[in-house]
Amino acid sequence: MDPVSPAEAHWSYLSVLACPSCHTPLLRENLQLRCQPCERTYTRTESVLSLFTPEGERAMAGSHDAPWSRWRAAIEGLETWRKRQRRAPRLSSSSPADVHEDGTSDLALERLLAACTEGIDRPLIVDVGAKDGRMAARFSRPVRYLGVEPFVQGVHSEDSPVVRALGESLPLQNGTVHGVLCHAVFDYFVDGARALDEMARVLAPGASLALVVSVLTPHVAHARASHTRAGRLWHALSATREVGVRAAATLLPQALSLTTAHTQFYTRNEVMALLAARFELCSVHEQPTRTSSVLYIHARKRTKKRLPVI
Ligand SMILES: [Zn+2]
Repeated sequence: MDPVSPAEAHWSYLSVLACPSCHTPLLRENLQLRCQPCERTYTRTESVLSLFTPEGERAMAGSHDAPWSRWRAAIEGLETWRKRQRRAPRLSSSSPADVHEDGTSDLALERLLAACTEGIDRPLIVDVGAKDGRMAARFSRPVRYLGVEPFVQGVHSEDSPVVRALGESLPLQNGTVHGVLCHAVFDYFVDGARALDEMARVLAPGASLALVVSVLTPHVAHARASHTRAGRLWHALSATREVGVRAAATLLPQALSLTTAHTQFYTRNEVMALLAARFELCSVHEQPTRTSSVLYIHARKRTKKRLPVI
């Protein structure tokens, strides 16, 4: 058998890929995939397979639809935000050694991934918001990894294939995935509830979701997300009651800025309510940062409840 080149790696996932619009399995036609009911063809550009709905294609092309326009602006503002985070002062000298300056913890991630893959031989893990597929290397046991990421450029590794698609319309068949990882991208979804619906749809019953998400106190969330500068400033000042003066002061540059680096901001209660409606919660580890907390959440797709035998 010919060795599979990195550009060919995603064909090995054909058995679980589906049309992102109607979820029908796709037919391979040479180097393309075809959905018969939708009469749509999905092709590769820069060696990466693109699986967008018509709505997703419009969003990627710079739709004038307001939520998606804000999403594109937020993605473009992301690099600026990352640079600012790198310049930010350290959390504190007493932070554990595995905790990075943005509050993420290697140990918490390692434990979460271990819990989500426990007991399954080479589980199929879908990483929603995978960037270039870098998280594939963070699993301590062998997994079959597939990344989903709208902005991925080119193929990076044979072991971590990534397809281009949106979290709100996953190109996967119902109930076929052993685990979903969603790492530090939940606040970039235009519709977080819809993305969670999609994750629940593609997971097998009882399979695990590993969600790593930043949550904010209510005033901090509004200091970052209010549509007017005056509103953001008022909430940044009000946030001193929640996070202290020094932490609240770090909100001011962003409150004054015209751009935002995220699409949505969530409080802990909002994330928990969204999850509880779709998943069974297994564990939550909370890692505090200056103005937010990073939650490491292990949840399971609900299995159908059996009716009691009378
Ligand atoms: Zn279709």
